[in-house]
Amino acid sequence: MNNVRLARSIVGEREAAAVAQILIGDGYLGMGAEVQRFETELAAFLGVPAGHVVCVNSGTAAVMLATQAVVSPGDEVLVQSLTFVATFQALQAAGAVPVACEVLPETATIDLADAARRITPRTRAIMPVHYASNPGDLDAIYRFAAEHGLRVIEDAAHAFGCTHRGRLIGSFGDVQCFSFDGIKNITSGEGGAVVSADPLVLERVKDARLLGIERDTERRFAGQRSWEFDVKRPGHRCHMSNVLAAIGRVQLQRFAGEFAPQRVALARRYRELLAPIPGLALFATDLGPIVPHLQPVRVLGGRRDALRAHLQAAGVETGIHYKPNHLLTLFGGGRISLPVTEQVYGELLSLPLHPGLQPADVERVCTAVRDFFQSN
Ligand SMILES: *Cc1c(COP(=O)(O)O)cnc(C)c1O
Repeated sequence: MNNVRLARSIVGEREAAAVAQILIGDGYLGMGAEVQRFETELAAFLGVPAGHVVCVNSGTAAVMLATQAVVSPGDEVLVQSLTFVATFQALQAAGAVPVACEVLPETATIDLADAARRITPRTRAIMPVHYASNPGDLDAIYRFAAEHGLRVIEDAAHAFGCTHRGRLIGSFGDVQCFSFDGIKNITSGEGGAVVSADPLVLERVKDARLLGIERDTERRFAGQRSWEFDVKRPGHRCHMSNVLAAIGRVQLQRFAGEFAPQRVALARRYRELLAPIPGLALFATDLGPIVPHLQPVRVLGGRRDALRAHLQAAGVETGIHYKPNHLLTLFGGGRISLPVTEQVYGELLSLPLHPGLQPADVERVCTAVRDFFQSN
């Protein structure tokens, strides 16, 4: 029997044809008209004006450039420790100091009561991470930010196509960062996007993705280059290429009819089958409004690693999302303790979830989970 994979890219003939069109038909592999088309189509999908979406070459770059656009070096950003290390590295690369906060154990989203205790005169922003596609209590996060005069930069890497109170993530709020890496809700191979209605953020991210060259984006979209230019702020080489945009455009077309319903249906089946199993706790995420990127569960009673080994032996690949960043040497090496985060981390197990799975695969995974608890 084949292994059930944790995650995988779902791409095929249509993406291949779109890439071939860029390589052979168009011949321009850098950032050009195809990237502009992808940005325009993403904006239309989100229901925001064209120009509010800026594509970059990774989700990490999106977080880095968005942060750099709103903070000054040394400013502190409140962020949950329980996130991919990309979030912390991007914050640090932008010159910000990531301040690790606790999560709420029911959702693994940021604990605002804990965040409030970590505010200092240098705090400039809060970065909620939409863990497993759940934006958490975004209204409370925006109220918190308004009370304390903070910017909100959402790490929405898991949350493409998700809604909060009927509105798509990216269609409201301050700044949102998406990832289109190979296994996210849509992929462009590698890639990401910053979305904002703030003209200064948009201008800064557009310039910073192209080495800080002022207004180079407009010239590249017109098929031109900048020879006479100025640079006033630090920049990077983070623009998206036409090759990646071609993949992303096809994926965006497949999202609503194919990827979103498939992910939701598989996650629903997981819940039906896992809910009766004692020894597991499911996250309190309402599947109506979201398209789940991950299927994490909490394994209670100190049995996570044993269950993981059992599933491995049954041909089921699992993951742990994530090792908390405050435990990593670069970010303090456990100098501070975050007891809730550390407890949840010890219980976390992500089960396979991607649109290439069949309902029978989910049943096989859940049977293996049930067998473990019955024989242990
Ligand atoms: C994937 C991810 C990122 C980074 O995105 P990349 O496109 O892989 O660079 C950032 N934050 C979170 C929570 C992610 O899952």
